[in-house]
Amino acid sequence: MDSTVLEKYRKAGKIAAEARDYGASLLKAGAKLLDIAEKVEKKIYELGGKPAFPVNISINRVAAHFSPKLDDVELEIREGDVVKLDVGAHVDGYIADTALTVEVDNDRYHRLIQSSKSALERVIEHVKPGVEVGEIGKIVYESIKKEGFNPIENLSGHGLGRFKLHTGVSIPNVPTRSKRKLKEDEVVAIEPFASTGRGYVESKGWSNIYLYMHPPTPRDIRLRFLAKRLKEKFGTLPFADRWFVREFPNLRIALERLISHGSVYHYPRLVDDGIVSQHEHTIIVTEDGCEVIT
Ligand code: MN
Ligand code: MN
Repeated sequence: MDSTVLEKYRKAGKIAAEARDYGASLLKAGAKLLDIAEKVEKKIYELGGKPAFPVNISINRVAAHFSPKLDDVELEIREGDVVKLDVGAHVDGYIADTALTVEVDNDRYHRLIQSSKSALERVIEHVKPGVEVGEIGKIVYESIKKEGFNPIENLSGHGLGRFKLHTGVSIPNVPTRSKRKLKEDEVVAIEPFASTGRGYVESKGWSNIYLYMHPPTPRDIRLRFLAKRLKEKFGTLPFADRWFVREFPNLRIALERLISHGSVYHYPRLVDDGIVSQHEHTIIVTEDGCEVIT
Protein backbone atom coordinates (compact mmCIF):
# COMPACT_ATOMS: atom_id res chain seq x y z
CA MET A 1 0.00 0.00 0.00
CA ASP A 2 1.11 3.52 -0.81
CA SER A 3 2.80 4.89 2.33
CA THR A 4 0.83 8.17 2.43
CA VAL A 5 -2.43 6.20 2.15
CA LEU A 6 -1.28 3.82 4.89
CA GLU A 7 -0.46 6.77 7.16
CA LYS A 8 -3.94 8.22 6.60
CA TYR A 9 -5.56 4.88 7.45
CA ARG A 10 -3.44 4.59 10.60
CA LYS A 11 -4.34 8.12 11.64
CA ALA A 12 -8.07 7.49 11.00
CA GLY A 13 -7.78 4.25 13.00
CA LYS A 14 -6.16 5.98 15.96
CA ILE A 15 -8.78 8.74 15.95
CA ALA A 16 -11.71 6.30 15.69
CA ALA A 17 -10.31 4.13 18.50
CA GLU A 18 -9.72 7.09 20.80
CA ALA A 19 -13.19 8.51 20.11
CA ARG A 20 -14.74 5.03 20.66
CA ASP A 21 -13.00 4.60 24.03
CA TYR A 22 -13.86 8.16 25.07
CA GLY A 23 -17.49 7.41 24.12
CA ALA A 24 -17.44 4.20 26.16
CA SER A 25 -16.45 6.24 29.23
CA LEU A 26 -19.64 8.31 28.77
CA LEU A 27 -22.00 5.29 28.80
CA LYS A 28 -23.45 5.77 32.30
CA ALA A 29 -27.00 5.50 33.64
CA GLY A 30 -28.73 8.84 33.10
CA ALA A 31 -26.41 10.00 30.29
CA LYS A 32 -28.26 11.55 27.34
CA LEU A 33 -27.80 9.80 23.99
CA LEU A 34 -27.68 13.18 22.29
CA ASP A 35 -24.79 14.37 24.51
CA ILE A 36 -22.84 11.17 23.91
CA ALA A 37 -23.20 11.32 20.11
CA GLU A 38 -22.31 15.01 19.96
CA LYS A 39 -19.30 14.66 22.27
CA VAL A 40 -17.87 11.68 20.37
CA GLU A 41 -18.25 13.43 17.01
CA LYS A 42 -16.63 16.58 18.46
CA LYS A 43 -13.75 14.43 19.71
CA ILE A 44 -13.20 13.08 16.18
CA TYR A 45 -12.83 16.66 14.87
CA GLU A 46 -10.55 17.65 17.76
CA LEU A 47 -8.25 14.74 16.95
CA GLY A 48 -7.95 15.89 13.33
CA GLY A 49 -10.44 13.59 11.61
CA LYS A 50 -14.01 13.80 10.36
CA PRO A 51 -16.90 11.46 11.21
CA ALA A 52 -17.27 8.81 8.47
CA PHE A 53 -20.88 8.36 9.61
CA PRO A 54 -23.01 9.56 12.54
CA VAL A 55 -22.13 7.97 15.88
CA ASN A 56 -24.47 4.99 16.29
CA ILE A 57 -25.81 4.23 19.77
CA SER A 58 -27.87 1.04 19.61
CA ILE A 59 -29.44 -0.31 22.79
CA ASN A 60 -30.50 -3.87 23.78
CA ARG A 61 -32.46 -5.46 20.89
CA VAL A 62 -31.39 -2.74 18.46
CA ALA A 63 -28.34 -4.21 16.73
CA ALA A 64 -27.35 -1.22 14.62
CA HIS A 65 -28.40 2.02 12.94
CA PHE A 66 -29.57 4.54 15.46
CA SER A 67 -28.33 8.06 16.08
CA PRO A 68 -30.32 10.55 18.20
CA LYS A 69 -31.97 13.63 16.67
CA LEU A 70 -31.43 17.12 18.09
CA ASP A 71 -34.85 17.02 19.77
CA ASP A 72 -34.31 13.57 21.30
CA VAL A 73 -33.48 15.27 24.62
CA GLU A 74 -35.38 12.67 26.66
CA LEU A 75 -33.45 9.62 25.41
CA GLU A 76 -31.01 8.37 28.02
CA ILE A 77 -28.97 5.34 28.99
CA ARG A 78 -30.57 3.23 31.72
CA GLU A 79 -29.07 0.84 34.25
CA GLY A 80 -28.78 -2.62 32.70
CA ASP A 81 -28.76 -1.41 29.09
CA VAL A 82 -26.55 -3.29 26.63
CA VAL A 83 -25.19 -0.44 24.50
CA LYS A 84 -23.40 -0.75 21.16
CA LEU A 85 -21.30 2.29 20.32
CA ASP A 86 -20.25 2.31 16.67
CA VAL A 87 -17.83 5.03 15.57
CA GLY A 88 -16.34 5.90 12.17
CA ALA A 89 -13.63 8.44 11.40
CA HIS A 90 -11.93 9.34 8.15
CA VAL A 91 -8.81 11.20 7.14
CA ASP A 92 -9.00 12.46 3.56
CA GLY A 93 -11.66 9.81 2.85
CA TYR A 94 -9.71 6.86 4.31
CA ILE A 95 -12.13 5.34 6.80
CA ALA A 96 -11.76 3.46 10.08
CA ASP A 97 -14.91 1.82 11.49
CA THR A 98 -15.01 0.37 15.01
CA ALA A 99 -17.52 -0.62 17.68
CA LEU A 100 -17.79 -2.00 21.18
CA THR A 101 -20.51 -3.05 23.60
CA VAL A 102 -20.96 -1.98 27.22
CA GLU A 103 -23.48 -3.25 29.75
CA VAL A 104 -24.31 -0.37 32.06
CA ASP A 105 -23.99 -1.05 35.82
CA ASN A 106 -24.72 -4.76 35.48
CA ASP A 107 -23.14 -7.96 34.19
CA ARG A 108 -26.04 -10.19 33.26
CA TYR A 109 -24.80 -10.18 29.67
CA HIS A 110 -21.10 -10.51 30.38
CA ARG A 111 -20.81 -13.81 28.46
CA LEU A 112 -22.78 -12.49 25.51
CA ILE A 113 -20.50 -9.47 25.26
CA GLN A 114 -17.39 -11.63 25.61
CA SER A 115 -18.62 -13.88 22.81
CA SER A 116 -18.63 -11.19 20.10
CA LYS A 117 -15.32 -9.87 21.42
CA SER A 118 -13.56 -13.22 21.30
CA ALA A 119 -15.07 -14.02 17.88
CA LEU A 120 -13.47 -10.82 16.58
CA GLU A 121 -10.13 -11.70 18.21
CA ARG A 122 -10.18 -15.17 16.64
CA VAL A 123 -10.83 -13.78 13.19
CA ILE A 124 -7.99 -11.29 13.57
CA GLU A 125 -5.59 -14.12 14.50
CA HIS A 126 -6.69 -16.06 11.44
CA VAL A 127 -6.71 -13.36 8.73
CA LYS A 128 -4.02 -13.37 6.07
CA PRO A 129 -3.99 -13.20 2.27
CA GLY A 130 -5.77 -16.20 0.76
CA VAL A 131 -8.21 -16.79 3.62
CA GLU A 132 -11.73 -17.35 2.25
CA VAL A 133 -14.45 -15.09 3.64
CA GLY A 134 -16.72 -18.11 4.14
CA GLU A 135 -14.07 -19.47 6.50
CA ILE A 136 -14.17 -16.24 8.52
CA GLY A 137 -17.94 -16.64 8.81
CA LYS A 138 -17.38 -20.14 10.13
CA ILE A 139 -14.96 -18.89 12.80
CA VAL A 140 -17.45 -16.23 13.96
CA TYR A 141 -20.33 -18.72 13.93
CA GLU A 142 -18.52 -21.44 15.88
CA SER A 143 -17.02 -19.01 18.36
CA ILE A 144 -20.41 -17.45 19.25
CA LYS A 145 -22.41 -20.73 19.11
CA LYS A 146 -19.93 -22.38 21.51
CA GLU A 147 -20.93 -19.78 24.13
CA GLY A 148 -24.61 -20.56 23.61
CA PHE A 149 -25.57 -17.50 21.53
CA ASN A 150 -26.54 -16.87 17.91
CA PRO A 151 -24.49 -14.83 15.45
CA ILE A 152 -26.64 -12.41 13.44
CA GLU A 153 -26.75 -14.01 10.02
CA ASN A 154 -27.98 -10.99 8.05
CA LEU A 155 -25.39 -8.50 9.28
CA SER A 156 -21.83 -8.61 7.98
CA GLY A 157 -18.46 -6.96 7.87
CA HIS A 158 -17.39 -5.15 4.72
CA GLY A 159 -14.60 -3.78 2.62
CA LEU A 160 -13.75 -0.07 2.96
CA GLY A 161 -12.73 2.28 0.19
CA ARG A 162 -11.92 5.96 -0.10
CA PHE A 163 -15.15 7.79 0.89
CA LYS A 164 -16.90 4.42 0.63
CA LEU A 165 -18.17 2.78 3.81
CA HIS A 166 -19.34 -0.49 2.25
CA THR A 167 -17.48 -1.64 -0.81
CA GLY A 168 -15.87 -4.74 -2.27
CA VAL A 169 -15.94 -7.82 -0.10
CA SER A 170 -18.67 -8.76 2.39
CA ILE A 171 -17.55 -10.63 5.54
CA PRO A 172 -20.30 -12.95 6.80
CA ASN A 173 -20.93 -13.85 10.44
CA VAL A 174 -22.05 -17.37 9.48
CA PRO A 175 -20.40 -20.00 7.23
CA THR A 176 -21.07 -19.43 3.52
CA ARG A 177 -19.95 -21.07 0.31
CA SER A 178 -18.11 -17.93 -0.77
CA LYS A 179 -14.67 -18.80 -2.11
CA ARG A 180 -13.74 -15.12 -2.24
CA LYS A 181 -10.28 -14.79 -0.70
CA LEU A 182 -8.87 -11.83 1.19
CA LYS A 183 -6.03 -10.07 -0.60
CA GLU A 184 -2.99 -8.22 0.66
CA ASP A 185 -3.68 -4.48 1.23
CA GLU A 186 -7.43 -4.99 1.39
CA VAL A 187 -9.02 -2.80 4.10
CA VAL A 188 -11.84 -4.60 5.86
CA ALA A 189 -14.17 -4.04 8.82
CA ILE A 190 -14.82 -7.24 10.78
CA GLU A 191 -17.92 -7.03 12.97
CA PRO A 192 -19.35 -10.08 14.73
CA PHE A 193 -22.80 -9.64 16.28
CA ALA A 194 -23.97 -12.08 18.97
CA SER A 195 -27.60 -12.34 20.08
CA THR A 196 -29.60 -14.06 22.82
CA GLY A 197 -32.43 -14.17 20.24
CA ARG A 198 -32.73 -15.79 16.85
CA GLY A 199 -29.82 -13.94 15.23
CA TYR A 200 -31.74 -12.22 12.45
CA VAL A 201 -32.45 -8.49 12.29
CA GLU A 202 -35.53 -6.81 10.88
CA SER A 203 -36.01 -3.20 9.81
CA LYS A 204 -38.11 -1.48 12.47
CA GLY A 205 -38.39 2.28 12.77
CA TRP A 206 -35.91 4.91 11.64
CA SER A 207 -32.26 5.53 12.38
CA ASN A 208 -32.09 9.31 11.73
CA ILE A 209 -29.19 8.47 9.42
CA TYR A 210 -29.38 9.29 5.71
CA LEU A 211 -27.41 8.78 2.52
CA TYR A 212 -27.54 10.89 -0.61
CA MET A 213 -28.32 8.63 -3.61
CA HIS A 214 -29.04 10.55 -6.83
CA PRO A 215 -30.77 13.72 -8.14
CA PRO A 216 -34.56 13.73 -7.81
CA THR A 217 -36.69 13.06 -10.90
CA PRO A 218 -39.30 15.84 -10.37
CA ARG A 219 -38.32 19.09 -12.06
CA ASP A 220 -38.77 20.93 -8.80
CA ILE A 221 -36.06 23.60 -8.54
CA ARG A 222 -36.02 23.63 -4.72
CA LEU A 223 -35.72 19.85 -4.45
CA ARG A 224 -32.99 19.69 -7.06
CA PHE A 225 -31.11 22.48 -5.31
CA LEU A 226 -31.30 20.75 -1.92
CA ALA A 227 -30.17 17.46 -3.44
CA LYS A 228 -27.18 19.21 -5.00
CA ARG A 229 -26.26 20.81 -1.67
CA LEU A 230 -26.55 17.45 0.13
CA LYS A 231 -24.24 15.88 -2.43
CA GLU A 232 -21.69 18.67 -2.01
CA LYS A 233 -21.88 18.66 1.76
CA PHE A 234 -22.03 14.93 2.56
CA GLY A 235 -20.95 13.25 -0.69
CA THR A 236 -21.01 9.46 -0.57
CA LEU A 237 -20.98 9.13 3.25
CA PRO A 238 -23.99 8.77 5.57
CA PHE A 239 -25.14 11.88 7.47
CA ALA A 240 -27.12 12.50 10.66
CA ASP A 241 -30.48 14.19 10.99
CA ARG A 242 -28.65 16.48 13.46
CA TRP A 243 -26.12 17.52 10.82
CA PHE A 244 -28.91 18.13 8.30
CA VAL A 245 -30.96 20.31 10.67
CA ARG A 246 -27.93 22.45 11.54
CA GLU A 247 -26.94 22.92 7.92
CA PHE A 248 -30.41 23.29 6.42
CA PRO A 249 -32.84 24.57 9.06
CA ASN A 250 -36.50 24.54 7.97
CA LEU A 251 -35.90 22.15 5.05
CA ARG A 252 -37.19 18.97 6.68
CA ILE A 253 -40.23 18.72 4.42
CA ALA A 254 -37.99 18.98 1.36
CA LEU A 255 -35.77 16.24 2.83
CA GLU A 256 -38.81 14.02 3.35
CA ARG A 257 -39.78 14.57 -0.28
CA LEU A 258 -36.27 13.60 -1.40
CA ILE A 259 -36.59 10.42 0.69
CA SER A 260 -39.95 9.58 -0.87
CA HIS A 261 -38.43 10.03 -4.36
CA GLY A 262 -35.51 7.72 -3.50
CA SER A 263 -33.05 10.57 -3.92
CA VAL A 264 -32.05 10.25 -0.25
CA TYR A 265 -32.01 6.94 1.61
CA HIS A 266 -33.14 6.78 5.25
CA TYR A 267 -31.54 3.76 6.92
CA PRO A 268 -33.97 1.67 8.95
CA ARG A 269 -33.15 0.70 12.52
CA LEU A 270 -32.06 -2.97 12.64
CA VAL A 271 -33.66 -4.93 15.46
CA ASP A 272 -33.36 -8.56 16.62
CA ASP A 273 -35.71 -10.35 19.06
CA GLY A 274 -33.02 -10.75 21.74
CA ILE A 275 -30.23 -8.74 23.36
CA VAL A 276 -27.38 -8.01 20.93
CA SER A 277 -23.64 -7.49 21.38
CA GLN A 278 -21.23 -6.26 18.68
CA HIS A 279 -17.48 -5.71 18.39
CA GLU A 280 -15.78 -4.26 15.35
CA HIS A 281 -12.28 -3.44 14.17
CA THR A 282 -10.92 -2.21 10.87
CA ILE A 283 -7.93 -4.17 9.61
CA ILE A 284 -5.50 -3.98 6.71
CA VAL A 285 -4.50 -7.36 5.29
CA THR A 286 -0.70 -7.61 5.29
CA GLU A 287 1.74 -10.05 3.67
CA ASP A 288 1.47 -12.61 6.49
CA GLY A 289 -1.48 -11.50 8.62
CA CYS A 290 -3.21 -8.22 9.30
CA GLU A 291 -2.73 -4.87 10.99
CA VAL A 292 -5.57 -3.71 13.27
CA ILE A 293 -5.80 0.05 12.81
CA THR A 294 -8.54 0.69 15.37
MN1 MN B 1 -19.34 0.15 12.45
MN1 MN C 1 -18.92 -1.56 9.82
